[in-house]
Amino acid sequence: MAHVHDPYEEAKKQLRQTIELLGLSEEIYEILAYPERLIQVRLPVKMDDGTVKVFIAWRSQHNSALGPYKGGVRYHPNTDAHEVIALSMWMTWKNSLAGLPYGGGKGGIRVDPHKLSQSELMRLSKAYFEAISDLVGVDQDIPAPDVYTNPQTMAWYFDAYSRIKRGQYFGVVTGKPLELGGLQTRIIATGFGTAVAARELAKKLWGGLEGKVVAVQGYGNAGYYAAKFLHEWGAKIIAVSDSKGGILVESGLDPDEVLKVKRETRSVINFPNAKRITNEELLELDVDILVPAAIENVITEANADKIKAKAIVEAANGPTTPEAEEILTKKGIIVVPDILANAGGVIMSHIEWVNNRMGGWITEEEARNRLEQKMMNNFAKVWDYWQTKLDTSKYNMRAAAYAIAVDRVVRAMKLRGWI
Ligand code: NAD
Repeated sequence: MAHVHDPYEEAKKQLRQTIELLGLSEEIYEILAYPERLIQVRLPVKMDDGTVKVFIAWRSQHNSALGPYKGGVRYHPNTDAHEVIALSMWMTWKNSLAGLPYGGGKGGIRVDPHKLSQSELMRLSKAYFEAISDLVGVDQDIPAPDVYTNPQTMAWYFDAYSRIKRGQYFGVVTGKPLELGGLQTRIIATGFGTAVAARELAKKLWGGLEGKVVAVQGYGNAGYYAAKFLHEWGAKIIAVSDSKGGILVESGLDPDEVLKVKRETRSVINFPNAKRITNEELLELDVDILVPAAIENVITEANADKIKAKAIVEAANGPTTPEAEEILTKKGIIVVPDILANAGGVIMSHIEWVNNRMGGWITEEEARNRLEQKMMNNFAKVWDYWQTKLDTSKYNMRAAAYAIAVDRVVRAMKLRGWI
């Protein structure tokens, strides 16, 4: 395995704990611990120099009790089947928790997209979508962007699918460019939603966000917009990072100025007059809120003891291992779990999908208001369950979120007669 920590093993552990908490049967674990379908394809793609490279790719369709599979596609050199399955399982819980009419799915291609030209990426993306085209669809499985994929990738998917199926199937992917049925708010949605979750937590813990000190790991779509809105709402962003390393400015950073430097030089580390730090050091800073917004398994049993943040709001999927979380729970560090904190993207994807099916009806302002309200309701739902139904000294917020999410999926499976 490419991972020291296998995210799939961790996802199964989290499911196991929830099955025990809810007193559910072993057969329910047997159904939910595996994807309903795992697709693996090998994609020969012609490179610009005339040579052919073969890429391996997956789509994991975890559970469809609540509706069509829904979840992003990741382009990453380390992705593998286990990572994709884990991510698809987390999507099932995320969609369920948010009350959406979706099951969970996720895709991945093992590739370093930075090493491909735009035309090579287009051929790879279209080849992937062609290969899975019979198993995705507006009511079957609806992909979206994830790490190193973006609205352009979705435009290629949409085009490949629409040509094969001889129609214009806008609802087959979400996170599309505005010209092809996307919504501007989808672009900000994940980070904005994470910032709303952090704001709601700050209200509970400290009466608000004003002056709270924040560090953000990862400065892509999720990390940048989380930093931007937290900054706008009065928090002080003192450190950010990307795959090349991090920067620290005790007096606070302006997220837009950092983005400018990242865009011009391809990394935040070139930001002037900042102290250079490593990604590991960023995670251990003494801050009020730590926002991991890069990849999974960055907070493990190896560094959990050194985490000084008072709260962690997970923009990334699976950044905290279950072993690490046990340590954090004992230390009294609150973790707002990924399936709650980064649900903004898929909530907005749902709005985009409905909008496509209705031929376009929503304004950007309405879309953002709906997203904000839904994130606030989601947060309140989990917080209240945690505070009123669980022993908070024993169970953390993730346990509450999982309990609500798994329970809804199980009820849907019962109603359908699967169990
Ligand atoms: P992105 O490609 O836009 O950005 C990823 C960022 O992480 C980049 O700044 C990159 O430099 C950095 N990074 C990559 N490897 C790193 C490493 N080893 N250490 C530190 N930084 C590293 O991706 P994104 O869409 O912002 O996704 C980030 C996380 O958020 C992922 O876990 C993803 O699954 C999750 N997420 C994204 C969305 C979405 O809508 N984009 C929705 C839900 C969850």
